Amino acid sequence: MRVSIHTLGCKVNFAEMAELADRLARAGVEVHEDHPDPDVCVINSCSVTAQADRKVRTLVHGLRRRHPRARVLLTGCHVDNPHPRASAVEAADVAFPNARKREIADYLLAMQHPSGPAQSPVPGRSGFARSRYFLKVQDGCDHRCTYCIVWRTRGASSSEPEEQLLERARRAVSEGYGEIVLTGVDLGSFGRDRGRSLAGLLERLLEAAAPARLRLSSINANDFTPALVELVGAQRICRHLHVPLQSGSDRVLKRMGRLYRRAGYLDLVAALRARAPDLALTTDVIVGFPGESAEDFEQTRALAREAAFSGMHVFRYSPRAGTAAPRLGLPVDDPVARERSAVLQEQARIQQRAYEARFIGRPLQVVWDREFPARVRGLSDNYITVFAPRRGQALGTVDTVRPLAAAEQGLLCA
Ligand code: SF4
Repeated sequence: MRVSIHTLGCKVNFAEMAELADRLARAGVEVHEDHPDPDVCVINSCSVTAQADRKVRTLVHGLRRRHPRARVLLTGCHVDNPHPRASAVEAADVAFPNARKREIADYLLAMQHPSGPAQSPVPGRSGFARSRYFLKVQDGCDHRCTYCIVWRTRGASSSEPEEQLLERARRAVSEGYGEIVLTGVDLGSFGRDRGRSLAGLLERLLEAAAPARLRLSSINANDFTPALVELVGAQRICRHLHVPLQSGSDRVLKRMGRLYRRAGYLDLVAALRARAPDLALTTDVIVGFPGESAEDFEQTRALAREAAFSGMHVFRYSPRAGTAAPRLGLPVDDPVARERSAVLQEQARIQQRAYEARFIGRPLQVVWDREFPARVRGLSDNYITVFAPRRGQALGTVDTVRPLAAAEQGLLCA
């Protein structure tokens, strides 16, 4: 059986599909991202914005046209969202809500072997996510941000058992992964339901998953404990953190239901930079949130400069049915929101280039993740994309390079 995997949305979705791909490949299934001739297409969907729902519908209908013989299996937040205006669920052959996602592998394997042993007895490696290993450590969220539907679609925060995570990390290292990325819907809440903590897990992983480097995906500012801050800058922990800001204005943060404030966020940035001066700090910002004034927006811009973000995902607010924010009133006119988005994206571009330029001529540790005819691409521990001439570098391996110039996106080695 040939399975094509399509992932939309966050790193959690990506981690889930990497896990599925590994399990299928071990059972002899041919698995690829965007397989050219699949029997089954699996889509892990997103529903974070109205645009995300549109993308799911476009993808489902596009796959139906390109592969009329293939069955389409849809899972992810779009399936759980009770409110998408025009759901793609009915266009799929089968849908799995998030809570039943782990059953997909059994479902597909039963399709492959309806009565007995595998037809393809040679377990293979999946053609999915070979360079970095995405380890999903937690699912769900206990927060109630007023713009967000994800806490509804994913349910309450729940953590994976630590022993299982350590075992998967050891296996990833034995398979040659140079980097393990810890992901979760609300990663910072890892362990609370089990009397454990993210810092505790990191310490155990550093030991169990040597020599791979560890990267943390998104963590909310209010979830940094002193023990977690203490680990920033430790050897083999990537010098990169993604700390969603959303707004630099306390008034807007309060309306968003976020649990930190401007001053606390900046104090955290100072503490992180004291531990790791070269830290790459990236963030998410929502512009045009209901009630955001010109002054609120300027506060966001000023905070972004002060925090010296090296990357910003800028989202224009769009109301989601089923969330509280549309009822807050004071909507921002669309042209104003568009203008703010363009201004902040330009600021993000300038700040990113300035950060990258600091590393020209300095050693960077990269994991190679993609090959082109003449070049290979890698990601540095501090989240800079690096290109180098192809000289047989194996994907997934770690190298130290010294970039010589800026590329169109990222840095370039000789
Ligand atoms: S922290 Fe807020 S934005 Fe993130 S998943 Fe939870 S409710 Fe949504």
